Amino acid sequence: MKTLIYGLGESGVAAARALIERGEEVILADSEDSERTRGIVYSLGVEGCLGAHPKVLEQGVGRVVASPLVRPRNPLLVAAEEGGIPVLSEVALGLELLGPGVRVAAVTGTNGKTTVAGMLHAILAASNVPHAVAGNSWRALTGCLEEVREAEVLVLELSSFQLHYLPEPGFEVAALLNVRPDHLNWHASLEEYAADKLRIFEGQGPEDLALVSANDPVIQEALDNLVAETVVVGESETLVEEGRLLLWGRLLAEVGELPIVGPHNHENALFAAAAAERLGVGLEGIREGLLGYRIEPHRLETVAERDGVTYVDDSKATNPAAVAAALTSFEGTTILILGGSEKETDFSEILPFVDDCRAIVCQGEAGPRIYEFLEERGVAIDVFVLLVPDLPSAVEKARRFAHTGDVVLLSPGCASFDQHASYAERGAAFARLVVEDVGDRREQPDKGAVGR
Ligand code: ADP
Repeated sequence: MKTLIYGLGESGVAAARALIERGEEVILADSEDSERTRGIVYSLGVEGCLGAHPKVLEQGVGRVVASPLVRPRNPLLVAAEEGGIPVLSEVALGLELLGPGVRVAAVTGTNGKTTVAGMLHAILAASNVPHAVAGNSWRALTGCLEEVREAEVLVLELSSFQLHYLPEPGFEVAALLNVRPDHLNWHASLEEYAADKLRIFEGQGPEDLALVSANDPVIQEALDNLVAETVVVGESETLVEEGRLLLWGRLLAEVGELPIVGPHNHENALFAAAAAERLGVGLEGIREGLLGYRIEPHRLETVAERDGVTYVDDSKATNPAAVAAALTSFEGTTILILGGSEKETDFSEILPFVDDCRAIVCQGEAGPRIYEFLEERGVAIDVFVLLVPDLPSAVEKARRFAHTGDVVLLSPGCASFDQHASYAERGAAFARLVVEDVGDRREQPDKGAVGR
């Protein structure tokens, strides 16, 4: 069967390679006709269609493997679906090529996917359980098939894009952490986004395990349709109680022992623990793995402590739900830096948590809209709300406002593309700005600049 690979990013190239190695016919397509894409077509030595006109489907294409960056409303994908040509995500192709015999623990959610996959990885590694990790923020699944087959256990991080084109996966362990508004520029609606997230449970049988959160309304509504054994994290016996992490009522760790902050991360740890137990790890191994886990950069990462002020980089918080989680993670007063590229997201979710902020600095492309929103919602009555053009001015303002004991928190609730190439670059820029010397730091606000 001839496969059209649509989108020549890392996962598209891995998928093409995997198929070419098996002697299958492949056409490469990308909407971008550039030196980079031409180089890829040349190096893989197969037919290419740059510019990606839907007519390419007429060349006997039997299926399309679509990059996560291509939206379902894209003309080529619409034409494929109208013509009855199946569209798959790269992960779906990877699972098909993998065949049976691999135990898969899949993780999805609006926030926390990378953290839970990383925690599960740490637990399995601490107990010497052979495993591979792939998907979404990790490497492409089709690029490590042999390693996965050998390990026989796969930790798979899945985005909603990957789930959209993934029919009936039937995972042994499927974890849905939360469903909050995000990526609504890709999905047609919140309902479609939620439906894609819930696909992680499709194809599961009663012998499989479904992990869901007690704190998520979307998931709660779907509970009755789950066929697998279900653990509701945060309820009954798998929860945080009086500062202790309990798995089926058994003590895993005291919250204070864990090298992570925030109730959301404690919940993440319980998801990873329940998945690990299903994969055969005992309580002691889970505990050891969690205590040894180190949070990935740019997720509530302390980057500096200066003059008694702690500077925290949470650049990976690209939606309001992640900002809300960050705000519940610190005791004491916070100076919050919000804003970045505009996704028109509703920031209502952060409102219940802004009371402990000394100031909120809005910046970047979405800054003016967020500033107006906070003003309209009366936040400025109790909290200084400021508007500045960009991240450097936001850091400078935040430093001037900070008192000893405060946390200056970059948790933007927006993507980074207005000023930076990625969330990682934005976080690195924040850390650099923080350590730059700005002289006299404390300032009292003037009425024109802030609301209170
Ligand atoms: P993802 O891979 O889903 O983007 P990450 O683990 O990289 O998630 O974390 C992204 C952001 O979401 C970070 O700001 C982090 O602090 C926050 N976060 C992590 N887990 C949760 C959770 N369970 N609920 C809400 N926010 C979370």
